Amino acid sequence: MKILKFGGSSVANPENIIKIKNILTSYEDKIIVVVSAFGGVTDQLINAGELAASQNTAYKNTLKDLETRHLDMVKELIPITLQSSVLSKVKTELNVLETLLEGAFFIGEITPKLSDKIVSFGELLSSYIISENLVSEGLDCDYKDSRELIKTLKVAGKNVVDFESTNTYCKSYFNQNASAITVCPGFIASSHNGDITTLGRGGSDYSAAIYAAALDADVLEIWTDVSGMYTANPKMVKQAKAITHISYEEAMELSHFGAKVLYPPTIQPVLSQGISIIIKNTFKPEEAGTLITKSKNKGGKTVRGISHIGNMALLSLEGPGMVGIPGISKRFFEVLSQADISVVLITQASSEHSICVGISSDDVEKSVEVVNEAFTYEIERGKIKKVIPEKGLAIVALVGDNMKSHQGLSGKMFSTLGKNNVNIRVIAQGASERNISCVINEKDVKKALNALHEEFFEENIKQLNLFVMGVGNVGAKFLNQINSQEKYLKKNLRLNVRVVGISNSRTMFFNEKGINLNDWKNELDSGEKANKDLFIEKVNDLNLRNSIFVDNTASEEIARTYKSFLGNSISVVTCNKIACSSAYDNYASLKSLAREYNAPFLFETNVGAGLPIIDTLKNLIASGDKILKIQAVLSGSLNFVFNNFDDTTTFHDIVKQAQEEGYTEPDPKIDLSGIDVMRKILILARESGHMLEIKDIKNDSFLPQESLATNNNEAFFESLVKYEDDFQKIYGDAKAKNSRLKYVAQFENGQASVGLQEIPKGHDFYNLEGSDNVVLFYTERYPNLPLIIKGAGAGAEVTASGIFADIIRIGNF
Ligand code: ADP
Ligand code: ASP
Ligand code: MG
Repeated sequence: MKILKFGGSSVANPENIIKIKNILTSYEDKIIVVVSAFGGVTDQLINAGELAASQNTAYKNTLKDLETRHLDMVKELIPITLQSSVLSKVKTELNVLETLLEGAFFIGEITPKLSDKIVSFGELLSSYIISENLVSEGLDCDYKDSRELIKTLKVAGKNVVDFESTNTYCKSYFNQNASAITVCPGFIASSHNGDITTLGRGGSDYSAAIYAAALDADVLEIWTDVSGMYTANPKMVKQAKAITHISYEEAMELSHFGAKVLYPPTIQPVLSQGISIIIKNTFKPEEAGTLITKSKNKGGKTVRGISHIGNMALLSLEGPGMVGIPGISKRFFEVLSQADISVVLITQASSEHSICVGISSDDVEKSVEVVNEAFTYEIERGKIKKVIPEKGLAIVALVGDNMKSHQGLSGKMFSTLGKNNVNIRVIAQGASERNISCVINEKDVKKALNALHEEFFEENIKQLNLFVMGVGNVGAKFLNQINSQEKYLKKNLRLNVRVVGISNSRTMFFNEKGINLNDWKNELDSGEKANKDLFIEKVNDLNLRNSIFVDNTASEEIARTYKSFLGNSISVVTCNKIACSSAYDNYASLKSLAREYNAPFLFETNVGAGLPIIDTLKNLIASGDKILKIQAVLSGSLNFVFNNFDDTTTFHDIVKQAQEEGYTEPDPKIDLSGIDVMRKILILARESGHMLEIKDIKNDSFLPQESLATNNNEAFFESLVKYEDDFQKIYGDAKAKNSRLKYVAQFENGQASVGLQEIPKGHDFYNLEGSDNVVLFYTERYPNLPLIIKGAGAGAEVTASGIFADIIRIGNF
């Protein structure tokens, strides 16, 4: 014999019920089919009962909906010739339901007994209609009302299954019943004196397990809307996968901690008899589903699943009077139990100064009232504080039989959450060590589940979520590079890099699932009006794991936003030099925020575009080397200018060309005045460990005062025309000495300087072509012959690739 249970969504409409018929016809064994109410009906019945009890006539609308839904089902599922008797039976039942609701309306109250009676109509009607449908389809099918077979007793005020009489009734009925299929309503039972009782929300699973155990079935099959018990709720974690095989204990733990696919009490009856459970998908019957048996997980993954329970609250009992006084916790738990409040999680600090329990948010008001009342004496004397509730929380739990024999799992769990700025309120680890759970803010649940899932299940595929500000020259190249490398990154570096938000100065656009990088320009155009504060708000609201803010602008205003990102554990990658060359305190505080919140702050492209200059410097220092001197040509823009400027050209035209080809900042004066180089050497000096400010750097500018004093690009270019003779003289003087002009930055003994120099033939800097940069690091390990980094130090493509490299660094972080 096999027991098959079909849940609410499996029986939600006529098409689904036809799917069930097809599944049933493939069985040769005798089967019992346990069905839930049509999807959503139990909620509607509960709602109608509450409305009626609060004397709100809106319950009549709900009743009307229920009536239409059930009558339509009959009309669709039963051939016209057989419809009338079924319709009249359904109408009769609905009339009884109406009478009960009217009763609640007139009394203005609903007792638990009446409530059970009202909700029982969901399963009563669905099972009757389904069995009639199967009969009309020619199946050898019978109907049996579960109230006649499953009996409950009252224990401590609660209805619990009386297994002894239930087993007897079930055996005696099914031993005599010869039909191939028997359809029974799930969820409902009755007490010995004939009152209708129910088995708790989701209880049809339990009904099926009770039949399975009573009849010693071969298997219990739970047919639902997903292909098994997953590594996490598939509605929250897209990457979750069905678990092929899991032990009873693991399944029980996962379901206790929120895996709704199986109602927690279901396992108990079948466990004692070793009956396997299979969870199958009604809509994809060809998929294997999950097998639940007594055999423990050997080999395989240590963590089998991650589950969560939302709508939780914490209740803390604290006070100096609790230390060393026996019986306080006993009283605390007693009052909660007497008030019928279920405690999901408990923690007590070893100081005994406080006890904290996790309960459903719905129970908070009642708990606070009963606990404060029970401890009135202690509260009045200041020995215990009034109980403090905290709502809006959720429990997240890792589950696995073998977790106890593995170290480091909780460390990994908490560091993953920490890296993603998920604040952990309370931690609990069951004595069975099959479960590590923690309480977090409900708003962080999705992020936490996905981050943990990635860490424990996704073969190290890490998702990076980018928010890109600035899509001009550099930004556009960067997006194209990501687009073309997407597959490579996934396959070779196990990184799934997605761009979730982009903005330019006009519009901004977000897509939580990742922006289509083949069409980002159109998507951005269709976006909302750009607003820096809203951009930050959106990044925070999306609350995605491994979020990275990428600044491709040269804007001071944007540079000021880094603090708010880093402070929320959102990494920052920037080619904008303003933050790192601003006041030392600001630079230092960004670096310390990055450390504190575990969010990398990377700016490799601030010096030498894509050249690995800062990374090399960091590695030298981290490995114990000391920087003695830095000599560098750091301005690709000035190189471009002085490598192309001669007596056949004009200085103005060369600078214009450099600007147009993206070799200078949008404001070329920043490069020509030497400010850009000052910023770069300042950053290198700071990264070498020196507390320098920009004003400490010596700069002998070759630009005339008048050019330096201009305040817009037009005026600046005009001044270049005016002083052409001066520029030609600088060129001519160098040429006469067989030297070339290079803009050199130097740092030694805590002093930094920048300026145009005539570099003679044979010098390391002489043959610097195009926009190349070169840096010479003289260190304790490289005292005479320096470590040299040389290559293109400007241009959108190489800058974009430097930003890209920083993103990869974060991916490997
Ligand atoms: P039914 O109506 O068939 O009883 P339920 O809604 O009670 O179905 O349970 C199935 C749902 O459980 C799934 O649609 C899914 O959203 C949820 N669920 C939560 N956690 C898990 C998990 N770990 N694996 C599978 N489903 C889960
Ligand atoms: N119909 C009941 C509920 O929604 C029982 C079940 O579906 O398992 O809770
Ligand atoms: Mg269910």
